[in-house]
Amino acid sequence: STPAAITSGLAAATRRGALIKGGAALEQLGRVQTIAFDKTGTLTEGKPTVTDVLPADGISEQQLLALAAAVEAGSHHPLAQAIINRAGENGAALPLAENRRALAGIGVEGVINGKTILISAPGKLAENQLSPTWRNQVETLETAGKTAVVVLEEGVPVGLLALRDTLRNDARQAIAELAELGIRGVMLTGDNPRAAAAIANELGIDYRAGLMPEDKVQAITALNQQQQTAMIGDGINDAPAMKAASIGIAMGSGTDVALETADAALTHNRLVGVAEMIHIARATHANIR
Ligand code: ADP
Ligand code: MG
Repeated sequence: STPAAITSGLAAATRRGALIKGGAALEQLGRVQTIAFDKTGTLTEGKPTVTDVLPADGISEQQLLALAAAVEAGSHHPLAQAIINRAGENGAALPLAENRRALAGIGVEGVINGKTILISAPGKLAENQLSPTWRNQVETLETAGKTAVVVLEEGVPVGLLALRDTLRNDARQAIAELAELGIRGVMLTGDNPRAAAAIANELGIDYRAGLMPEDKVQAITALNQQQQTAMIGDGINDAPAMKAASIGIAMGSGTDVALETADAALTHNRLVGVAEMIHIARATHANIR
């Protein structure tokens, strides 16, 4: 192989906002046939906003937001930021939450006034934890492409919050350009199947929803056995799947863990940079042979 061709390939990619960490990564990129995308923060901007606040009887909207925001404080999850912002806009004074901990792929938990407050994806709760009325509410919100989270106090629902995120403005173009290169896109998400379907249909790609971080690893391993697969993500929860893929690509705005794990990164979060990266990788490969 000629080091000069590799060096100029890497430099060309860097100029286009695609950082590739070395010749081995470049070579792997040239062989990619399937690309798996994380949803939140990768295909979408990762800046959701709260669209609905539905408290249970006996609790106000502001109280619900205050409880939720207090538990989310300190979490780096995009949903957490949205809930904290909304509580701030409503002028809710946050109570003190202790023992906060993130439950990857599920939600977050903390203790307020000696009571455990859990914020959870509805699909991760036990069947009997949600009444039919709450279940219907969740279904309506999710069918509208929203992400619903349930706030529970000592295991009893005290309200629902719904959030919605927007697609990155170059997501459709990125998928189209990959299709032109003969590369298939698949969306992997921890989000609910109904909201996932709404977004995947807009992009015209396959999807797997309701995935825990370890399910993403399994999905990648299975895809990789059929076709050389790359994984693009932004979160700590994506890092194991990025490692399991033939090549891991991080969004430039991604968490440090994602950026460290990755073989390549999209600076400025330009999704169209993926197709450019692969184009350059193939051209470099052709030059070497
Ligand atoms: P994605 O794969 O779309 O990036 P995650 O695996 O991070 O999603 O999260 C999956 C689901 O778990 C979210 O859609 C949400 O329902 C729930 N969840 C995760 N973290 C939080 C949090 N901090 N607050 C509320 N819900 C959360
Ligand atoms: Mg993400």
